Amino acid sequence: MVVRFSKSPNHEIAKSRNVLVLYNIEVPPESSVAEVEEPSKAAPSSARRIPHWLSRLRSYAILDPLIFFYTLILGSASLAASFADPTGAKQHAIAYVSGFNAADPAQVSVQWLVHGRAAEEEIQGDRAFHISGGYQTFLDLLTDDLASRQVPIHLNTKVQRVRWNTGQVEIGVVSGKSEATFSAPRAVITFPLGVLQSAAQEAGINFDPQLPAEKLRALEKLAMGKVVRVTLCFRRRIWEDITAQEKTLAGMSFLFSDDKLFPTWWTQMPDPVPMITGWAPAASAENLRGMSEGRIVQKAIETLSSLLGLEQSLVQSELVGAYFHDWDLDPFSQGAYSYVKAGGEGCQRTLGAPVDSTLFFAGEATDVSGHNGTVHGAIASGKRAAQEILALR
Ligand SMILES: Cc1cc2nc3c(=O)[nH]c(=O)nc-3n(C[C@H](O)[C@H](O)[C@H](O)COP(=O)(O)OP(=O)(O)OC[C@H]3O[C@@H](n4cnc5c(N)ncnc54)[C@H](O)[C@@H]3O)c2cc1C
Repeated sequence: MVVRFSKSPNHEIAKSRNVLVLYNIEVPPESSVAEVEEPSKAAPSSARRIPHWLSRLRSYAILDPLIFFYTLILGSASLAASFADPTGAKQHAIAYVSGFNAADPAQVSVQWLVHGRAAEEEIQGDRAFHISGGYQTFLDLLTDDLASRQVPIHLNTKVQRVRWNTGQVEIGVVSGKSEATFSAPRAVITFPLGVLQSAAQEAGINFDPQLPAEKLRALEKLAMGKVVRVTLCFRRRIWEDITAQEKTLAGMSFLFSDDKLFPTWWTQMPDPVPMITGWAPAASAENLRGMSEGRIVQKAIETLSSLLGLEQSLVQSELVGAYFHDWDLDPFSQGAYSYVKAGGEGCQRTLGAPVDSTLFFAGEATDVSGHNGTVHGAIASGKRAAQEILALR
């Protein structure tokens, strides 16, 4: 079962008046999603104010009809009803922005979302891909390439200080109990946005001198989304035999709900392994704040049991392991991935611009092609920074 956004309005909900109207609109400048006006049945003209990507959200319902109806059967009535409600676009938008971008709908820029959706359309962003063998396969490619060029990699080495002036950079690091300094005429800075924001507030890495004022202003207009993730590993695929609409959930890829803690779940399909991941983005991650890891795992088990309609004791008895991560609390990321706040368009370019031909910047938050918050966006930004340095020769 392939989960993807539909490009064609081939479902009766997608054929409704609002969806078609919503494709022809202008994007209100400097708006957050929460500020965008909701279209109404009575006043179709107001629908013109909704950006076209909001209409795509309706395709949630056609992602996978089985899961959609399953959600309905399980009692997520408000979510299911909102799919059928032609005026529910804003609610979908808020759910989508929270779930996919892990962003605060009251802050996220609509312009940025539109830019991102357009970029995704160009690269089949409506399809879900897994790297066979996981991301380690990709990391192995990069490390092998660096090894073949005799480029050393220093793992478990924390940068504490970046001292720089034109044509000279000194990076002060600590590794275990030993400290060291690396010097070079230029450096590419690839700290995550959250780490750079701490540095700007003089709470983390010490930049000496501090980053230029325009970069500090850009950092204020960007934000890190919040995500908590729990992966549950079972003896068997406990959802496999559950039936809805005369089909089983054996091929289930995603499970969407309106649960306040873990609204989204996904399996490893097409690999039929007994593992399922619960995703707590944005406000859901906030709702888990302050709970211990054990309590959060317990909440994940409770949610999954309830969504699948299974006894909690059965789910618990089949569990062999649980893995948890909160990216917001991780000092090396300080958030999951970046988004642009309303009015912050263009800030990624400012953040990514070189300083004095000495400091160069890469990382997903500096991507300007519409792919920030992604691995491919991060890679593209690294290539861009490398080209900037090569162009100095
Ligand atoms: C839960 C989750 C799910 C995601 N899912 C997807 C997905 O399905 N598809 C997709 O394309 N993208 C996904 N992303 C986004 C993707 O992972 C990021 O956009 C990408 O990894 C960013 O790469 P980066 O190099 O900019 O930053 P990072 O990968 O964060 O690399 C920055 C590095 O800097 C290191 N660092 C931080 N501080 C210091 C310090 N003081 N000293 C030394 N090193 C330091 C960190 O340890 C880290 O290794 C996901 C992200 C998260 C959190």
